[in-house]
Amino acid sequence: MEVTFYGVRGSIPAPGPETVRYGGNTACVAVRGCGGELLILDMGTGVIGLGRSLLQSEFCRGEGRAAILLSHAHWDHIQGFPFFPPIFVPGNRFTVFGPARSSAMLEGILEGQMNPHFSPLYTMRNLGAVFEFVPVEGEVDDEPLRYGDIHIRCRANPHGNTFCIAYRLEEGDRSLVYAPDVGYPPEGPSAATLALYRGADVLIHDATYTPQDRQRRLSRGYASYADAAEAAVRAGVRRLVLFHFDQDYTDEQVDHIWTQCRELLDRLGGQDIELMAAAEGLQLSV
Ligand SMILES: [Zn+2]
Repeated sequence: MEVTFYGVRGSIPAPGPETVRYGGNTACVAVRGCGGELLILDMGTGVIGLGRSLLQSEFCRGEGRAAILLSHAHWDHIQGFPFFPPIFVPGNRFTVFGPARSSAMLEGILEGQMNPHFSPLYTMRNLGAVFEFVPVEGEVDDEPLRYGDIHIRCRANPHGNTFCIAYRLEEGDRSLVYAPDVGYPPEGPSAATLALYRGADVLIHDATYTPQDRQRRLSRGYASYADAAEAAVRAGVRRLVLFHFDQDYTDEQVDHIWTQCRELLDRLGGQDIELMAAAEGLQLSV
């Protein structure tokens, strides 16, 4: 799998001279399978840049196919959707996975975003592309999902007073976990969540805060870099990518988070875990 980061910021976009290196767009990660499958992890404002690049491909001819995996529907994970150019091209097809009890409920969440109070698009019926909706709940006994040759498993993580889906993508013996927006209880991740992360080649994990800032804002339901490090060590992952930085953190503060996280990983016995901070344009091979 080839992974490209298009948006790495949490809550709201944060453009400006102090965020140019990591980028100011909200959450969006693109994954390409070996068979050419395209999976889009969340549709924050980062998806707009992905959309522009896709218009150089079959998506401009209405022959594009992609899966959209929504972790949850807070604004920073869907706000790029109405501005994603491929949705306006008739013939393109999208399979949307996301937390809901039914496909109608999942469609209704995105349809609500098109309401004329919020958007001039009025309704998803005005979009040219065709959408299929697959609800996921992230329960332990959920059936594994599949998109092309990519196997998808998911787990509901606690996120403030709601929850957020973490996804594990597997292709052959390679694995990538995407776990944004998670506020673990004091004892850390559940056994089910650790099982989802276990041995992943890459774990993209929420690292919204420093531990001090997380303590001040516990009810918001986000992780610190320390939570990410502890989860990575306990799950025995190979590479940890810090993600979903607070909108007020400058590039220098994100640099500092990486340094502090590296020291903590080494102290916790995670010396062999490669550590990266996600940035717009960063590409990884899994
Ligand atoms: Zn978020």
